[in-house]
Amino acid sequence: MVRRFKFDFFSKHSIPDWQCPSCGRATLELVENSFTTFRTARAQQHYDANEGFSPEDDENVFTCILVCRQKNCRQPVSLTGDGFYEEDYSGRSLTYASVYRPRYFYPPLTLFTPCDDYPDKIKVQLKELSAQLPGHPNAAINVLRTTLEIILDYFNIPRTGKNDRYLSLDNRISSIPESNEYIKRGFMAMKWLGNTGSHNLREVSKEDIASACFMLDDFLLQIFRKPNDHEATIARLTKNHDPSSKDQ
Ligand SMILES: [Zn+2]
Repeated sequence: MVRRFKFDFFSKHSIPDWQCPSCGRATLELVENSFTTFRTARAQQHYDANEGFSPEDDENVFTCILVCRQKNCRQPVSLTGDGFYEEDYSGRSLTYASVYRPRYFYPPLTLFTPCDDYPDKIKVQLKELSAQLPGHPNAAINVLRTTLEIILDYFNIPRTGKNDRYLSLDNRISSIPESNEYIKRGFMAMKWLGNTGSHNLREVSKEDIASACFMLDDFLLQIFRKPNDHEATIARLTKNHDPSSKDQ
């Protein structure tokens, strides 16, 4: 579900196919007359000074409402962010087109595969992660680290060791049994990403964050989603179609 996030610039006339927080479908539409922009103080001061002000120097903040177009849903979402002008060479002469960058959705978009089998603590983490990802990716990386700690609780890996001292995330991940070696390596890789993000060692690429979230989504389903129980179907088909059971 999270192979690619769509938090880049958009225009009012081409809303990305963001997924509805309520029904999970990509059917959010802009309520046209809800879109409001205000020029930032910095751009206004530059504009008032009027020294070679061009649209490229302009910037604003925007707010708008999206609504799910599914008749049985109609979930509203408020969206805020910042806006700029970019050069547009599509016509005969140079013009400028308004572009907007989403920073915060409320309620947060559906970015991870919904699963009723997840413990409430995991559901809360995924909501928090989804809230932070558009505007604060580094904060999202910290939430990702906390999510790993919570998943390790469900592996019954203790948070403290000798003398009640807290174990590092690295130590806890090392305690994942070898039978889950693939998940263990994945968790360690996400921990490294978390280190880079939380210590501001260097900028973390959007691609690294998106692929880590995709891996987390997959691992969570593998760990927590209960397989469908088909016993009743087996019994019904056997009763109705197994010749030997008809004889009885
Ligand atoms: Zn919906």
